Amino acid sequence: MNRPDDKARLILQLRQAGITDDKILNAMESVPREIFVPEHLRASAYADSALPIGHGQTISQPLIVAHMAQALELNDGSKVLEVGTGSGYHAAVLARLCRRVYSIERVRELRQQAERCFRQLDIHNIITKVGDGALGWAEQAPFDGISVTAACEEPPPALLDQLAPDGVLLAPVGAPDAVQMLVRMRRHGDNFERDELAHVRFVPLRAGLAREAESLR
Ligand code: SAH
Repeated sequence: MNRPDDKARLILQLRQAGITDDKILNAMESVPREIFVPEHLRASAYADSALPIGHGQTISQPLIVAHMAQALELNDGSKVLEVGTGSGYHAAVLARLCRRVYSIERVRELRQQAERCFRQLDIHNIITKVGDGALGWAEQAPFDGISVTAACEEPPPALLDQLAPDGVLLAPVGAPDAVQMLVRMRRHGDNFERDELAHVRFVPLRAGLAREAESLR
């Protein structure tokens, strides 16, 4: 298997699928996805598909990560909140495109594993914590962008409250075991403009912290 070729093929696929912003493509190219997947799946790291990362969770499909990064309209000064750190891959891509990423994960072991990846890659602008991401991170609000990477019935109100003026929140909205709609909410004062961007499939946003038994699965 030839990794550089696999990666180049993936970047080409992203371009053909409508990711036209060079900044996004460069960010995708600069983050080694193989670091974020379990060792036995490394050969598939550059396939455009979600992969299992343990604890019943998945690393997102690269095309969806790129679409979300593009739709957040980030710049060097942006402060971003991610809900659902998972493997840490999406956060690592966002971190290349903005000033700082705050990321919340409910499974302690996943957060630890993601932190190990950030250290290995010398990424210093991601701050993580264990918690219920639906509550957001009030101490660090407001955020220019919020990326929810787990499916919810509706965008959590606490997260909408933590958006900066003109900020953008993205969330997969719909039933947990179905195809969801990636929804974009843009803040205008106290109002939100809602757009539907694409059909996606994410694991569910779950309430509260993971119990020991659950996180050992
Ligand atoms: N962004 C991740 C993929 C996330 S999968 C990546 O790039 O790999 C969704 C993640 O959300 C899972 O790790 C799951 O444990 C986490 N999650 C689910 N509900 C949550 C909640 N309420 N708060 C924080 N994290 C949550």
